[in-house]
Amino acid sequence: MKLTARDKNLIWHPFTQMQLEPEALAIRSGTGAILLDESGKEYIDAIASWWVNLHGHAEPSIAGAIAEQATKLEHVIFAGCTHEPAVEVAEKLLKLLPQNQTRVFYSDNGSTAVEVALKMALQYWHNLGENKYKILVLEGGYHGDTFGAMSLAGKSDFSSPFHRYMFEVVQIATPLVGLEDRAILDLERELETGDTAAFIFEPLCQGVAGMRMYQAGILERLVSTCKAHNVITIADEVMTGFGRTGKTFACEHLTTQPDIFAISKAITGGFLPLGVTTCSERIFQAFLSNDKRNALLHGHSYSGNPIACAAANASMKLFDTMQTVERIQRIQASHKTFLADLSADPRVENCRSIGIIAAFDVKTTGAGDYFDDVRDKLYEFYISRGLLLRPLGRSVYILPPLCISKEQLDQVYMGIFDSLSCVA
Ligand code: PLP
Repeated sequence: MKLTARDKNLIWHPFTQMQLEPEALAIRSGTGAILLDESGKEYIDAIASWWVNLHGHAEPSIAGAIAEQATKLEHVIFAGCTHEPAVEVAEKLLKLLPQNQTRVFYSDNGSTAVEVALKMALQYWHNLGENKYKILVLEGGYHGDTFGAMSLAGKSDFSSPFHRYMFEVVQIATPLVGLEDRAILDLERELETGDTAAFIFEPLCQGVAGMRMYQAGILERLVSTCKAHNVITIADEVMTGFGRTGKTFACEHLTTQPDIFAISKAITGGFLPLGVTTCSERIFQAFLSNDKRNALLHGHSYSGNPIACAAANASMKLFDTMQTVERIQRIQASHKTFLADLSADPRVENCRSIGIIAAFDVKTTGAGDYFDDVRDKLYEFYISRGLLLRPLGRSVYILPPLCISKEQLDQVYMGIFDSLSCVA
């Protein structure tokens, strides 16, 4: 029996209306930017498998590091124990992050990295005995699917069955071009009350919202305004981390640095789940006490998993090479040329790019939201052309593994041009 058929009888896939969507692609193997299905058809992974893959599929140096670590120490409880791979990740990561980051807390994935960031910020004020509880978010943001992370996105069609269980957050305008002043006004109005605990944001690019991009200058103003009001700033770099915006972390485009970073996805090169939350010394110090209740009472069975950490170390080693810099520059330049051509097409609008992310919106007579049927037509077209592209509603984007070749990128661009016939 084929894998697709066995899957269909048993498995419930994420973000999938199981009654409507076509059978899952049964992927047998991956090499570089290519995925191979069970019938032998190849697909170019132009979305880095939900933004996790960094150097390419089955990258040998990461696979080797995982194999080696698995025969040495597969896992050990991380409360009361430590190990070489975890300490090494911390050392490497803190070198890549802004200097104000001094402590590393491990979890399992992007949502948990955000949950931890949120708890750090809220408990910071609790431990200091200050009544600060309000959380500011950017409108349209996405921070994960656990209840805390989901609450940060505000109430939407994504979360309607759960609205009564979600905590309140205050949304400020996302400072897209033309909305910068409104964002600042929203922020200043909220800061006046003095009860704001934290501000969390996806720096420069809101992924799930449809790769919505905004400028570093306005983020700089928002972050420094928060700092001036003693509000904790949290950068959710789960998607933007590791070169996606052209710098290692998107916050490198700023001079004022956030207090907390949430990191995951590409940290292991896309091999294994790992969540990391880092913070500044000021945050960490507020948890030191003779009272055990003031500790960060949070952890996961697989916190700091040695194999995931070994993958992260191998991936960061590879990331820290000239080859990576060249690949990022090449993809960035190539995207710009592609978008310059594409923007002349009347069926598209809002062509945009930052680093290795390129995006545009197709014009649609539908609602244009995540559930717009135009998305399904485009998705099916891309799959038929051997391209793994997964539009977010009417927003089509490319976020490839860094190893993608010029020829493969050209194939992706060509497929996108041709897909516009679905729109007309
Ligand atoms: N934060 C951001 C900015 C994300 O884009 C995502 C996932 O797409 C998450 C958090 C959640 O990460 P995970 O899916 O690993 O829980």
